[in-house]
Amino acid sequence: MIFEGQIRKMITENGNPIRYYLNLKDDYLDVNQQIGKKIKIFHHHNECLSCGLDKEIYRMGYCKSCFFLVPEASDTIIRPELSQAHLGIAERDLEWEIAFQLQPHIVYLAVASDVKVGVTREKQIPTRWIDQGASYATILAKTSNRYEAGMIEVALKNYVADKTSYQKMLKNEVPEIDLIHQKEFLKQYLPEEQAKFYVADETIYKMEYPVLNFPEKIKSLSLSKQKEFEGKLTGIKGQYLIFEDGTVWNVRGHEGFYVKIKL
Ligand SMILES: [Zn+2]
Repeated sequence: MIFEGQIRKMITENGNPIRYYLNLKDDYLDVNQQIGKKIKIFHHHNECLSCGLDKEIYRMGYCKSCFFLVPEASDTIIRPELSQAHLGIAERDLEWEIAFQLQPHIVYLAVASDVKVGVTREKQIPTRWIDQGASYATILAKTSNRYEAGMIEVALKNYVADKTSYQKMLKNEVPEIDLIHQKEFLKQYLPEEQAKFYVADETIYKMEYPVLNFPEKIKSLSLSKQKEFEGKLTGIKGQYLIFEDGTVWNVRGHEGFYVKIKL
């Protein structure tokens, strides 16, 4: 069977284990069902997520000109503390930014490789944690908009990492960390104006990924360097497919690539 289309990030459904669907825009593939089986991936051409043209993908699925134009790729996506929609100030598209930024946001602690602090919209929980390959997570604060969450994240970055090592995450080298203890420790460093958003709740959310065995050595597949790949799928974690020979494929990192997939 052949599936084809423009890659977008995989759709996930929380469960035990998490379910993954490859999103090829007009075609969907239940990836869990392919674990233990061979699949072949072929890069056909590119299709920018915004203009749809066959141009080199620059970042986040966009060609270079769209990347510097669309609100989905603006600076505040990576740096929430720069958000200004609450002041009525536009970055690229005020209407879009009001809808995106002025909604409840979560500041969380998650462990994928080490404890990290992050920000996401409340409705992206637990999707955001799954996309990062986090094994467990807890909510540290709930704010009314993106700016407030960004200010908390910036303050806490001095004490805790804000990045994940994807290699450790994929090898499942996950330390046991007392997140509640961490959260209580970090509370003192919240900016005064945002201290009221602290969440005392002690729930730890756990994520179970469909992986038969974790690789010991990792090779990253890049379809811009290698047009074709064939391998036996052994698991899925974060936005990565893991193959028997240690090859890992970052699906999200290939948004905008148009591929054919042979099962
Ligand atoms: Zn484009």
